[in-house]
Amino acid sequence: MTSTAEVGYADLFKQDRSHPHWAYDYAQRLIERHGPGRRVVIQTSMSPSGRFHVGNFRDTACAYLIHRALRRLGQDSLILLSFDDYDPIRPSQAARQPELAGYGARPLGAATERSTRICRRYIAELKRMGICPAEADADGRTPADAAWQTHYQHERYLAGTYVLLQSRYLRGAGKLGKLLGQAPEHLFSVYCEQCGRGTTRNLELGRDRVRYACDSCGALTTTRRIELVKPAWALDWTLRVTHEGIDCEPAGQDHCSAGSTMDRTRVIYREYLRAHQPVIVPYGLVRQSGERGKISGSRGGGLTLSDLMRVMPPQLILFLYGRPNCLSDFRIGLDFPAFVSYYDAYDRFLAKARAGDRRAAVLHGLITDEGDENVALPGMRRVLGLLQSCCYDVERVTAILGPAAAERVRHAHAWLASHGPRWIDRTAAAAPEGLLPDGDLPERWDRGSYRTLYLTLFGTESGPPLRRLTEIFGRDALVAAVRAYRDHGERPLRARVLAQLRPDEADAC
Ligand SMILES: [Zn+2]
Repeated sequence: MTSTAEVGYADLFKQDRSHPHWAYDYAQRLIERHGPGRRVVIQTSMSPSGRFHVGNFRDTACAYLIHRALRRLGQDSLILLSFDDYDPIRPSQAARQPELAGYGARPLGAATERSTRICRRYIAELKRMGICPAEADADGRTPADAAWQTHYQHERYLAGTYVLLQSRYLRGAGKLGKLLGQAPEHLFSVYCEQCGRGTTRNLELGRDRVRYACDSCGALTTTRRIELVKPAWALDWTLRVTHEGIDCEPAGQDHCSAGSTMDRTRVIYREYLRAHQPVIVPYGLVRQSGERGKISGSRGGGLTLSDLMRVMPPQLILFLYGRPNCLSDFRIGLDFPAFVSYYDAYDRFLAKARAGDRRAAVLHGLITDEGDENVALPGMRRVLGLLQSCCYDVERVTAILGPAAAERVRHAHAWLASHGPRWIDRTAAAAPEGLLPDGDLPERWDRGSYRTLYLTLFGTESGPPLRRLTEIFGRDALVAAVRAYRDHGERPLRARVLAQLRPDEADAC
């Protein structure tokens, strides 16, 4: 006989692989636990310690895919995005960032402008992804019954939302401490009444008060403001789970290992709250190509969803997050091989879904409601090639490939403009050896005359075929450009090509 108490943390990682997609495994567990007809609450939470990046997005993407799976199984569900801005600002970060000067050890939400900006940017990104509903306001707030809710913990704590549960935890501190193997006074941290910092030591926990000493301002006092008494991370999580009725939560695998929050809190649910721990969805790391460690938003690095959306449609991004098992790590990057491989894999996936492959069709149903137009789009490699040879002219390439490819051409152009290797940048130090015949272009072309042509027109070693250049600029303009170089050392066509790469800037001039 194995009692639940003896089951190790490893069962957090168990999955039934017979489902056509992992999201259905978790969805099925939730339906079995709660029965049909009850709205399942899935939380995705993160603290705005820095710009949210593609690593943070995995948390929300997992929540969204399970939400979609539940919906497709006929179960009502709600995504609750919690911005954990009642977490303290690390003093080391406050020391590094001028905007946080003086805010060390205070809650993230206290640096209001910065916190609002970070959260709003993420909400705007989730709206463009089609994940946060369009009717939500800039802060992600929706009517109370909407299937999307956004919570700001700084605001909720200070409004006293959780004081009943906080008091209950204070009263139960002795038992909670025993269950967690920690001294009761370490289970809470008070934001100092006087200076607002969490640099306090608890001297005595009462039922409705805490006596503390503050290392920052020297306060030695008793507070009755329970809203300032924040439970330590693991307890804080169980408190909010209890208050909101959270049924499911994705969590990075580092929060699921032995001794981690998800492992340690199991006993709290079992012995103290007498409730199920939510269904945990452990997920692996998202690494960025070319970087070894975890992506860090607080150090300002990391690709963001906006970076991805500039160069690929939301469905392709969801495909990248939905394709690997949630337990696996994966890499993301926007270098040429990665970028082209994402599109190739996506096109193969669409073709399989179209052909009725079950797993592909199921994933397709999770990432979009749209039917497939049944049109295979040109591969990304081809689109990029055409943009290069058409001197980055989006309209021309769209005219060649047809209107169905318009979005793909735009994305390819955006990728070239910000990441791609471009022939126009491969400038040569050498001056053209000699000149092209005056007044006309040579009758016969060879490697040498081509090289001279590119060096003359663009200052580059290579470029598109003459046929394309003639199509784009016209023969007269080519001849005029050859003369402009001969007479004034000018390269007017180079400027035109560069303008195509920065059409927005050209418009603004
Ligand atoms: Zn203080």
